[in-house]
Amino acid sequence: AQLSNQIAAGEVIERPSSIVKELVENSIDAESTQIDIYVEEAGLRKIIVSDNGQGIHPDEVKLAFERHATSKIYTAHDLFRIHSLGFRGEALPSIASVSKVTLETAIEDMPGKYIRIEGGVVVEERLHGARKGTTTTVESLFYNTPARLKYVRTLQTELANIVDIVNRLSLSHPNIAFRLVNESNQMLRTSGNGDLKQAVAGVYGTDVARKMLAIESENLDFKVSGYVSKPEITRASRNYITLILNGRYIKNYTLQKAIVEGYGSRLMVGRFPIAIIKVETDPLLLDVNVHPSKKEIRISKEAALASLVIEAIQLSMQESTF
Ligand code: ADP
Ligand code: MG
Repeated sequence: AQLSNQIAAGEVIERPSSIVKELVENSIDAESTQIDIYVEEAGLRKIIVSDNGQGIHPDEVKLAFERHATSKIYTAHDLFRIHSLGFRGEALPSIASVSKVTLETAIEDMPGKYIRIEGGVVVEERLHGARKGTTTTVESLFYNTPARLKYVRTLQTELANIVDIVNRLSLSHPNIAFRLVNESNQMLRTSGNGDLKQAVAGVYGTDVARKMLAIESENLDFKVSGYVSKPEITRASRNYITLILNGRYIKNYTLQKAIVEGYGSRLMVGRFPIAIIKVETDPLLLDVNVHPSKKEIRISKEAALASLVIEAIQLSMQESTF
C-alpha cells in the first residue's frame, strides 16, 4: 500500500505547489472563510495550511489518509466538482507517503485530534484540544524518495508556482480571506469580503486594482464578467490571466487567446493584460476528463464563448477611452 501511495504521489504530487493546491482545495471544500498558508524553502522544508473550516471527525482522521477515502459524495451533476477537486481521496495519502505530515483538526463541539504520519506510517495519534478547523503541516518533502527531488526546479521557480496557485485560488474565491507567507514575507492577503475587485487588490495590489476595467457580457449560453487591466498596465507573461469557470479556475488555451486578442492592437509584442475573467454556464455544456494526470475541460460552443470574451473586453476598452 505504501508503494502504491508513492506511485500515486508521482501523479498527484509533482512538486510543492501541487501540495499547496491540494491542501488549500481541501480547506475550500470544508467551507472555510479563512485560509492561511505558510511555506519555508519554497515548501520543500515546510508547508502549513491552516483553516477555520468544518474539520474532520476524530474517528475519521486516520481514514482520511487511506486511499480513496473521500468524504465527498459525488453525483453525476457533480462532475465538474470532481474535476476540480482532482483526485478523489488520493491527495492526503499521497502527500503523507512522501513527507512527514502533522494534522490537527477539530469539528464543532468535539475533542480535536492530532496525528503525525512519517513516510505513510502513523507515528502518533492522540486527542488534542483545538479550535474548529484544520491545520496540516507537511515537512521534509520527498525525504524518502530522493529521486523525486531531481524534478524540483530552483526554489525561486517553485515559490513562483506556489504564489501563482494561491493567487488563482484567491481570485476564484473572493469570499475567503487568504494569506500566504513565505518565511517572513507576506506574499498575499485578501479580505474575503466577497468582492472580486478587493480580491484583485489583495493579490496584485490596490494600485493595479484601481486600474482595472470591469467587463460584462452574456448570450443565451454564457455569462462573462470580471476585470481586465487598462492598457497602461501590462505584464510580460500570460500568467496574470485567470479564467474562472463556474467558480473554479481553469486553464483554457482558446479562451486565453481570446483575452489576449480582445486586448488587441494596443498591446506591444510580448505584453499581456492582467485579467480575471469569470464565465458562468450550464454544467451540461462542460465535458470533463477526470483522469488525474490530465485535467481537461471541453466546453461546447467554445468558439462562441471566445467571441463573447473578445467582444466584452473590446467593449470595455472602448468605453474607457471616452
Ligand atoms: P478528497 O479531497 O479527494 O476527498 P483528500 O485526500 O484530499 O481527498 O482528503 C481526504 C478527506 O479528508 C476529505 O474527503 C475530507 O473529508 C478530509 N479533509 C482533508 N482536508 C480537510 C480539511 N482541511 N478540512 C476538513 N476535512 C478535510
Ligand atoms: Mg482533496
